[in-house]
Amino acid sequence: VAAATVRLVGEAVVTLDEADRVLCPGALDLNGDRIVWVGPPEEAPAGDVETRRVGGLLMPGLVNAHGHTPMTLLRGAGDGLPLERWLHDVVFPREAQLAAEDVYWGMLLGAAEQLTSGVTTTAEMYFFAGALAEAASEAGIRCALAPAIIDRPDGPPEARWPAFLADAEAVHKAHDGEDGRLRVDLGPHSAYLLPDEALAAVAESARRLGATVQIHVAETAAEEAGLEARRGRRAPELLEEVGLFEARVLAAHSVWLDDVDLDRYARHDVAVAHCPQSNGKLGSGIARVPAMLAAGLRVGLGTDGPASNDSLDLWGELRLAPTLARASATDAGALGTLEALRLATSSGAAALGLATGRLAAGHLADVVRLDLEDSRLGPALDPGDLVAHVVWSASSRLVTDVWVGGRQVVVDRRCTTVDVAGARAEVRARARRLRDAAAS
Ligand SMILES: [Zn+2]
Repeated sequence: VAAATVRLVGEAVVTLDEADRVLCPGALDLNGDRIVWVGPPEEAPAGDVETRRVGGLLMPGLVNAHGHTPMTLLRGAGDGLPLERWLHDVVFPREAQLAAEDVYWGMLLGAAEQLTSGVTTTAEMYFFAGALAEAASEAGIRCALAPAIIDRPDGPPEARWPAFLADAEAVHKAHDGEDGRLRVDLGPHSAYLLPDEALAAVAESARRLGATVQIHVAETAAEEAGLEARRGRRAPELLEEVGLFEARVLAAHSVWLDDVDLDRYARHDVAVAHCPQSNGKLGSGIARVPAMLAAGLRVGLGTDGPASNDSLDLWGELRLAPTLARASATDAGALGTLEALRLATSSGAAALGLATGRLAAGHLADVVRLDLEDSRLGPALDPGDLVAHVVWSASSRLVTDVWVGGRQVVVDRRCTTVDVAGARAEVRARARRLRDAAAS
């Protein structure tokens, strides 16, 4: 009979726990889907334990706080266009051709890409959320899934917001809590794509279901100016007025916030998913992350969809967030190295409201192993040097093994839950069909 507790012993363990301990060497005990103990190996509790000397550097799995992973089907589309034209001229026409199976394959491939990059948790907003849930579950990734809610005012009833909301509630009923890895949220796309009454109805639904709301807020200056011209207020004020901020809200982007908005977010404990690569690629701007942290906001990092990034490799965001914060403030202290790593792990988990992102007793056993033999993680003269190397020099290429909820899903750089070659072939064929159908 196998022991119930598995002990992973690494050459180094970057915990991101409350004391931000770096242990060299370190050990963590996993039982079921949880971490039950972390510390120096010589202090480990006695008992019936299966010890695995895995070596390397162990750290919490990364948390992707905002994504549309099935958009692996649209990777690279519309490069060079600003957000409004990119959405309306390229993305929406192809998405109008989507079927549930496309979303399944796009998510399956993207989940494998995330897992092999060391991302163990992903927040997703997309259509055909039931198919997305199935793929996430099959890949074994932890997922906060928000069925997308939009509104096509000229469309048939099934394209109007009440149908999308009813569908989202049905997905919540069917999949929330599945496998202990899947949580179903609500995903109203944005204030600019939904009328006030839709946003108010989502707020009411979120309250009734106890669901978190994922929404895009203040991504571009043009979007905010348009809202002000048409509806008299910008997104943060509008969302507060319709009651959406009474729910638990994870606001993606939030690039164009003034001090009044920051205060509004703090009052309602609105969390932010900062997407520096996507905001940079689409020319949207640079979010005020240091000011958000100073205001006490919960902030995570998001890749956004692979059509605006274009990878699902959160290591890019991990490096870009402090780079942009420091460059725009001309201050090397504007966003600390450890703070940056927290954005990708513990703080991102707090933004999602999930007990992951830390190697600490009671937290979910979401663990990543990096290859410490790689020159990019050295020299480490002090344990703290490892934190700097992880942020500034490491990359997804160093990720060798990944556990989600105690289950190993990446072994020696290979995702064991997904047939990646098969999924790539499916996505390529389906991507071609979407492009050709949208063009005709
Ligand atoms: Zn997005």
